[in-house]
Amino acid sequence: MEVEITGMITGRKTARDDSVSMAAEIRSGNRRALSAAITLVESTRSEDRELAAGLMDQLSRAGRREAVRIAVSGTPGAGKSTLIDAAGSMLVKQGCSVAVLAVDPTSVRTGGSILGDKTRMARLAGLSGAYIRPSPNSQALGGVSSRSTEAVFLCEQAGFDHVLIETTGVGQSETDASRFSDIFMLLAAPGGGDELQGIKRGIIELADLIVVNKADGELKNAALAAASEYRSAIHLLPASPANPPGFPKVLVLSASEETGLDAMLAEISQLVDWRKSGSHWREGRRIQEARWLESRLGQTIHSTVEQSGLVERYCRRLEGELDAGHSVYSPEISGGLARLSAEIARHLEGGE
Ligand code: GDP
Repeated sequence: MEVEITGMITGRKTARDDSVSMAAEIRSGNRRALSAAITLVESTRSEDRELAAGLMDQLSRAGRREAVRIAVSGTPGAGKSTLIDAAGSMLVKQGCSVAVLAVDPTSVRTGGSILGDKTRMARLAGLSGAYIRPSPNSQALGGVSSRSTEAVFLCEQAGFDHVLIETTGVGQSETDASRFSDIFMLLAAPGGGDELQGIKRGIIELADLIVVNKADGELKNAALAAASEYRSAIHLLPASPANPPGFPKVLVLSASEETGLDAMLAEISQLVDWRKSGSHWREGRRIQEARWLESRLGQTIHSTVEQSGLVERYCRRLEGELDAGHSVYSPEISGGLARLSAEIARHLEGGE
């Protein structure tokens, strides 16, 4: 089967044949085809990009399938994989199907863990209604957002009704995750003292739910105290028209003891129902599409310039200036950068 699917991607048939049969495999729920397709959309090779575009086109013509896209963000060690394992298993037992994607490759290597994703979410991985996509190996410059959106879309087309997107609170990834999710959950664990320290205000503003984990044993009181700090913080935020009264909400639970998970899932489903009952859901999807487009535009410009060899040529030339003893702030370097910028502009215009 694997050989067959690999053949489908690289194979002897036309690219259109490939994308038609691959789309059919994905829609019939073939997990290997889904994995192969996600690898394809993550690829930066131009022939893969072309095939990926054909596949996405085929799938989008095949009829709309829509999941609830939930981003779970939080610092390493907050308990994201424990929570996804437990809540995902609960959803599957309720009859839902769940796909899990990790946005940033670092997310499995932080928190002292170098375990693979399957091992981290062992219970969920063992359920037939679940699919766990191993983390990407590398993070392509400028393309994280649009490629992850495509991976989410592929999971939807494979028939999953919930897509959980895991991301660490490192770098740009959580802002990106909020761009391709319907629900953004910030997971926090009680620390020592000032809970809001280290969590950027901007991230709190993105959250639909702030979930304080580890409310068990010795940590219980600290978790309750952290939750009240978060409540005071969100109280100061301006109300968003995309939220019903009471949202964003702060919840307290224990992922490992599985207390409070039912309530969390009920809050998510309440929020989804409310947004779907008005225009907010569709508007949210429209914004996600616009951001996808923005990301693809940036990517297209980047790869066009890269393929032209301009950057490499300037890099060599400007490194020569450094070798000649000019500082990075010298007019030789800044003038070179300005010339590069002008040349890129000319190059792009010429490509019209
Ligand atoms: P991630 O890095 O955010 O994915 O965090 P993990 O799910 O790997 O959890 C980090 C550590 O916190 C592990 O040792 C977990 O066993 C522990 N942990 C996760 N959830 C809970 C919880 O609800 N209570 C307690 N006490 N520990 C937890």
